[in-house]
Amino acid sequence: MKPVLIALTVALLAAPPAFAQSMEITRAEDLGGQIGSADYFSGTAYVAPVFPPVMHDVSAGHVTFLPGARSAWHTHPAGQMLVVTSGTGWVQERGQERQVIQAGDVVWCPPDVEHWHGATNTTSVSHYAIQATVNGSAVSWGEKVTDADYAQ
Ligand code: MN
Repeated sequence: MKPVLIALTVALLAAPPAFAQSMEITRAEDLGGQIGSADYFSGTAYVAPVFPPVMHDVSAGHVTFLPGARSAWHTHPAGQMLVVTSGTGWVQERGQERQVIQAGDVVWCPPDVEHWHGATNTTSVSHYAIQATVNGSAVSWGEKVTDADYAQ
């Protein structure tokens, strides 16, 4: 290797890249959370932010639904991944049968496909919800899921 090339290589290896950043740990007790708004949820849902959209436009939350609780009908502009962490719940896509989801299950809700998710009438469920923000929004809310629709 020529001296100039060696010098350049050493300089590149020694200099930290201009974009270098440090790892960041958010402690569990600092995550916070709140009861989901009655405008968008039926029953008691606890919604805890997990991470904001610092990684491209992707954010995540952790949601716990007590028995009988569920989201309103809604869509996601870029879709949504649900990763069930505990319990047993229900998810339903508009026009299709309600389906059971259990701890360990992963649900892909495609962009603009109307759906709801929540607990069953007798069991609670918790899941991570991971979605991307498009034009400032990650969700478009519709009407509440009626007791009749929920019970089907
Ligand atoms: Mn959803």
